[in-house]
Amino acid sequence: MSQQERELSASERREALKEVLAQARSCTRCQELAATRKSVVFGAGNADADLMFVGEAPGASEDEQGVPFVGRAGQLLNTLLEEIGLAREEVFIANTLMCRPPGNRDPQPIELDNCHEYLLRKVELIQPSVICTLGNFSTKLLRGDPTGITRLHGQPEVIVLGARAVRLYPIYHPAAALYTPRMLETLREDFHKLPALLAQGPPEQPLLEEVPEALEEPPAAVGTRESAPEADQLGLF
Ligand code: URA
Repeated sequence: MSQQERELSASERREALKEVLAQARSCTRCQELAATRKSVVFGAGNADADLMFVGEAPGASEDEQGVPFVGRAGQLLNTLLEEIGLAREEVFIANTLMCRPPGNRDPQPIELDNCHEYLLRKVELIQPSVICTLGNFSTKLLRGDPTGITRLHGQPEVIVLGARAVRLYPIYHPAAALYTPRMLETLREDFHKLPALLAQGPPEQPLLEEVPEALEEPPAAVGTRESAPEADQLGLF
């Protein structure tokens, strides 16, 4: 990312995000996922959001519809957002993986690695102040550390992702909280601290010369597997 890119207007960043979406839609970095997916679930919401969520990976409903968090966990996420006065359209929702792992198995390290550049590009272009990681996978991935969500939830910290400093805020994954009332209580408590965190605004940004490696764009798309639900995604942010 260059200084010029950092200073792009919101609409220019949204256009750049659409280009990343176009690349993602035909990504075949993970052969198994590319062969079994119905859609690439790129992410949805406000392309200029202050608050971004990062979940794990699309499930069956998300794969069908090409939209993240549309199943029961998504309904809970919507409810929690409403409780703090936010609509889904105001935030951006993404996942560590854009393709559904078959049978909802755990994402594999190589898959997380393959998808990571896309996630970093989203962060650089959306420029959120706060990234709320939902559950273990996204928390461990973005912190680059194996410490689990049980120890970290509800504790914000400033981290640098790509060329962007953000307030990282790990919370429990809504899918886990669906079945465990005590976890739901904790998730709700943590969630209700989000407005105060957002009110702090973005953290100070690193000088670009201090960023170890300028991010490269994800490689040009290979192949073209396009389907109707994916085509709709251009209207999702
Ligand atoms: N769980 C996730 O982590 N992501 C989704 O999009 C849906 C369920």
